[in-house]
Amino acid sequence: MSWGYAADNGPDKWADNFPVANGPRQSPIDILPGEASFDGALKPLSLKYDPSNCQEILNNGHSFQVTFVDDTDSSTLKDGPISGVYRLKQFHFHWGACDQRGSEHTVAGTMYPAELHLVHWNTKYPSFGEAASKPDGLAVVGVFLKIGAENANLQKVLDAFSSIKAKGKQTTFAGFDPATLLPGCLDYWTYDGSLTTPPLLESVTWIVCKEPISVSAEQMAKFRGLLFSAEGEAECCMVDNYRPPQPLKGRAVRASFK
Ligand SMILES: [Zn+2]
Repeated sequence: MSWGYAADNGPDKWADNFPVANGPRQSPIDILPGEASFDGALKPLSLKYDPSNCQEILNNGHSFQVTFVDDTDSSTLKDGPISGVYRLKQFHFHWGACDQRGSEHTVAGTMYPAELHLVHWNTKYPSFGEAASKPDGLAVVGVFLKIGAENANLQKVLDAFSSIKAKGKQTTFAGFDPATLLPGCLDYWTYDGSLTTPPLLESVTWIVCKEPISVSAEQMAKFRGLLFSAEGEAECCMVDNYRPPQPLKGRAVRASFK
């Protein structure tokens, strides 16, 4: 059986097929702001995204993702806690069945209703695939969503959902600027972690923004209309597609801000 988020194939079962699930640097984690040490050597994030790199939107049966052409250095993440140039590959979200849960990272135990992940790979390696297994291969920017004002910048994404309702559906998605989904303040926490979905590779420098972005309750409800299931299968709503926090195992969490 393939992995998922149900009782019989969910996060508690992933270690059966992916033993690194119990490894030393797994993600997500509960971030304790009082335990995170301010590091004055951490630089501000340098994000440069070219909307013309935006390619398609896809329901992969676990989430939906927006993918980017990544054959040049035109959409990149630099600085912050990382060295070198990391290219944007895709962004996706995790969310709950209700507004009380859905984020992967938590802050002092508090869950947000959703979390955005912008996935970048280190260009010291030849491709995303090769980078994904290296300790410094990936850098993921995490952004919490909170219920509040409608987010106009998210609307183009939501409007595409009707074309990607079922697993395996995809459609072209051009000209979208992912920078419009970032919070106004880019203060962040950072730590060494992993992919939060199988194969759970321990290759991610996590950069979790302190400031959430807002989404209206009506917009959040639209995420829950997507399906885990493929066309022709029994309909199964795509909700609670998050992994809960994993043990810190002595890792340091640093803050870019006081
Ligand atoms: Zn993710």
